[in-house]
Amino acid sequence: MAPTRMSSGTADPTLRTGRAPATPVSLRLDGRSLPVVGTARVYTCGITPYDVTHLGHAATFVWADVLTAVLASTGVDVHCCRNITDVDDVLTTAARERGRHYDEFALSQEAVFEQSMRALRVATPAAQPRARHHVGAVQQLAQGLLDAGAAYERDGTVWFRGAGLPGRAGVDPARARELSAAFGDEPDHPGKDDPFDVAVWRPSGPEHPAWPSPWGWGRPGWHAECAAMALGVQGSSVDVLVGGDDLLFPHHAYQGAMVEALSGVTPFARAAVHVGEVRLAGEKMAKSTGNLVLVDDVLHTCTPAALRTLIVDRDHREPWSFEVDDLHAAEGRLERLYAAAGRGGATAAAVAAATAPLLDGLDVTTALDVAESEGGEAARRVVQLLRLG
Ligand code: ZN
Repeated sequence: MAPTRMSSGTADPTLRTGRAPATPVSLRLDGRSLPVVGTARVYTCGITPYDVTHLGHAATFVWADVLTAVLASTGVDVHCCRNITDVDDVLTTAARERGRHYDEFALSQEAVFEQSMRALRVATPAAQPRARHHVGAVQQLAQGLLDAGAAYERDGTVWFRGAGLPGRAGVDPARARELSAAFGDEPDHPGKDDPFDVAVWRPSGPEHPAWPSPWGWGRPGWHAECAAMALGVQGSSVDVLVGGDDLLFPHHAYQGAMVEALSGVTPFARAAVHVGEVRLAGEKMAKSTGNLVLVDDVLHTCTPAALRTLIVDRDHREPWSFEVDDLHAAEGRLERLYAAAGRGGATAAAVAAATAPLLDGLDVTTALDVAESEGGEAARRVVQLLRLG
């Protein structure tokens, strides 16, 4: 017999608890609303710990921090995961060049990175999975992809079938091939069916770390590591995927495709924040070229709040160049903001007007403009949300 249901129309009003809540608000990204119930899951592609932290890294992680604060301001819990890629050929090579063991070297570099993040007041993510703790998860992923027919094994390598991925990612095949080569996916490898197949698992020679597996001694591929860590920590999908815009293809395209092929849940990421690259003298800031501005060096010349302002007072998607004059301009912006925050007043409507742009695509520049002009509580709220105090 079905249970009888009490009519809500006759409910005793004394049983009602709490006050009427404010209307729930959601973050909008790329023009689309991202409603969240309960907990927002954010996956940020973290560092390969083989060198010092430069401004390009800092930009990605400060934007991830702003995203987290803005999501939290909507009243949901935010579960942030920022991985550490401590099994990677560039790390192994860097460690060997310095005569150090790769995992000891990675740990020392992680400590330096964390110091830079603390100096920049980036909140520590709830989860910081390390690739070397997820080797078993990559093997589970490889087996799942084999079982699903999305991968095949040949000579100790488990290849993920990626033939259609450039098209799905909207990347021209010739450009996709260049990018695959640049990120170590070996499009010309003779042992695979298609140039865009990538290794989920691959055999290791004596110069690389190796774990036993059903396919012989080997190590995980980079995209598979992030797929396995995301699955292990956040489950089959995430609300927002964050990373530098150079990760769009191939890394995030393959990470998402592997997770989707395994779980059947599509899309892997409901939304993405891809942060525009930071340049110096017109060139991309990168360890490989030595064209770098280091976070610690900049922080010897300015406050963390000034550097955060320089990073976030712009469209997060656009590339930009580091200029010392712009750092001074950011200091000026901050002074005006603090002066505005010192004024009294500001209505609830003014506070809402200052924070609304943050909810609409993380528009920090407009939020700072409104905060400056409204002053008082509106400015204080924006300073607090962006951790500029
Ligand atoms: Zn990643």
